[in-house]
Amino acid sequence: MASIPFNRPHLTGNELQNIMQAHANGKLAGDGQFTKLCEQWIEEKTGCSRSLLTHSCTAALEMSALLLDLKADDEIIMPSFTFVSTANAFVLRGAVPVFVDIRQDTLNINETLIENAITPKTKAIVVVHYAGVSCEMDTILAIAKKHKLVVIEDAAQGVMASYKGRALGSLGDMGAFSFHETKNIQCGEGGALLINNPVFAGEAEIIREKGTDRSRFFRGQVDKYTWQSVGSSYLPGELLAAFLYAQMRSAQSITNMRLNLWERYHTALEPLEQSGDLRRPVIPPECVHNAHMYYLIVRNETVRSALIQALKAVDVMAVIHYVPLHSAPAGKRFSRTHGELTVTEDLSARLLRLPLWVGLIEEDQDLIIATVKAFFQ
Ligand SMILES: *Cc1c(COP(=O)(O)O)cnc(C)c1O
Repeated sequence: MASIPFNRPHLTGNELQNIMQAHANGKLAGDGQFTKLCEQWIEEKTGCSRSLLTHSCTAALEMSALLLDLKADDEIIMPSFTFVSTANAFVLRGAVPVFVDIRQDTLNINETLIENAITPKTKAIVVVHYAGVSCEMDTILAIAKKHKLVVIEDAAQGVMASYKGRALGSLGDMGAFSFHETKNIQCGEGGALLINNPVFAGEAEIIREKGTDRSRFFRGQVDKYTWQSVGSSYLPGELLAAFLYAQMRSAQSITNMRLNLWERYHTALEPLEQSGDLRRPVIPPECVHNAHMYYLIVRNETVRSALIQALKAVDVMAVIHYVPLHSAPAGKRFSRTHGELTVTEDLSARLLRLPLWVGLIEEDQDLIIATVKAFFQ
């Protein structure tokens, strides 16, 4: 019996051709032809006013934190149910993540809890679109406007997903995409910062180019480039951008193939939801998701461990998500919580992600489904 990994990065078959083209161009540092093509693709797909390719979503989030010009002890409201980079980017600047609880249905930040967590030190709200399903953005943007806060979208999982017809990553002041190999569109390690509020555009270019105005220099706008501001090296090289651009060109078909697998899980597991054995993902009507993930929420942590073992017995890898940040050692040192995080603690202990990747054949998916069904029999 072949083992079924949790994830297997998809290759379109056109990556090497693009890499050869980049090689022939002879310009392998960042900001070349393929970087520009990738950025144009993001701008066209999302409608953001400017996109900057980075070497990871983590890097894009760090850039967003630099752009906020934070002072020590400034506060950033975010969910605890997220990846470490969401918090780390701000902790690196001396700011304090303030965690609020998530919603039962989407596992996204509970927008009704945000306003109460705002203090005079609050500078931004960082939302995470879990599983490529949007947060309740209209409500969150209205709160931010009222309190003059910046909204940053951690849209690491949200490429090709939308809210009320608007692309994730294009709704807040800034957004961050991930092209890590575990994401839908990937180049191993990669990301992008999406700028929607034009006030940040000029400074973002400087931060990405080690704090210099090199981008302006290359456009002929200044006759030499100098150290302008605090910055770092956040540009990916051209070979990675060339690889990524091949993936972008296939983004719609990749998304369709993932959606097909997602729907197959969703239909097959409906009876188990009706019998009360598990809960399936909820997609609010205003959200179009991208099938980044299929997860189940089972009755308790003991059932989850047993189900992981049952799947392992047939060589299927299923994984949990996330250990809430507020309960982790660094979370306790660097952040604080606002109110009880009951839903975060409850759901993170019961959530199980099933394999979902382009190339997972239906026969193997049927084995996964049959194993889950047999487990609950
Ligand atoms: C994957 C992920 C990241 C980090 O992305 P990298 O590109 O690996 O830096 C950040 N936030 C969330 C929610 C993610 O899923």
